[in-house]
Amino acid sequence: MIKPDRYPNGKHFAVTFSYDDGDKADRRLVDIFNNYGMKATFNLIPSRFDGETVVSSGELRSLYDGHEIACHSYSHPHLARLPLTGQSREIALGRLSLERLSGRLVRGMATPYGEKNDDTLVAMKAAGMAYCRNAGVSGGLSVPADFLDWMPSCHHTGAPAVIEKFRNEWIHQPWQYGGLLFIWGHSFEFDRADNWELAEQICSSLAGIDDVWFATNIEIYDYITAQRSLVISCDGDVIFNPSAVDVWVSQNGSPICIKGGDTIRL
Ligand SMILES: [Zn+2]
Repeated sequence: MIKPDRYPNGKHFAVTFSYDDGDKADRRLVDIFNNYGMKATFNLIPSRFDGETVVSSGELRSLYDGHEIACHSYSHPHLARLPLTGQSREIALGRLSLERLSGRLVRGMATPYGEKNDDTLVAMKAAGMAYCRNAGVSGGLSVPADFLDWMPSCHHTGAPAVIEKFRNEWIHQPWQYGGLLFIWGHSFEFDRADNWELAEQICSSLAGIDDVWFATNIEIYDYITAQRSLVISCDGDVIFNPSAVDVWVSQNGSPICIKGGDTIRL
């Protein structure tokens, strides 16, 4: 039986991080992520760049190298209080500014204050956003049915308890839980709470797990989207991967890779 229960290289689990607002403390957090081989997404606010407490526009390319730059609107308003035109401008201008400054494609976002309404959804789609991370927590390892309504597993303050459950319990039953651990927060919270050891503790407790793919939010989105686009014959013996992404599945518990564009017969 074929199960779409694997990440790249046959791993059962994926771990991703998402941090908002582009505070200067991102520099320290990126250092910690890099030391432990973690991958993260940083949701940035172009109108605030070069202010006293935030990162500078000139350092985007180098600071976030190896991580994802994503949109957090242009100026961090309460989007749901704006008309559709205002929401569209905030999201599209946020994307445009970040793409020009970083030289990269910017395809995902988190809304300011975690707020959104029906118009936000229209504005996100118009601006080409592939996913939107919420500000709540699921407490589990689920993969979203709708990436524009993506609930993370936990805020970093709740991460030690979730990671303990992950390591002791969920890791033995990956198919049941979806296998995606998603931690979010703001880097300045480590300064305010004076608890940078928590960032180290989270990363060190995850870095030692072999069966994990560490990826940015958009890498998770691209992989799962490709996996969901697999074409499988009625009897399950023929699988076509129409995407450009190599996709892994399992057959009776053993991992199989279907390269982008390939058709395999089992
Ligand atoms: Zn924010």
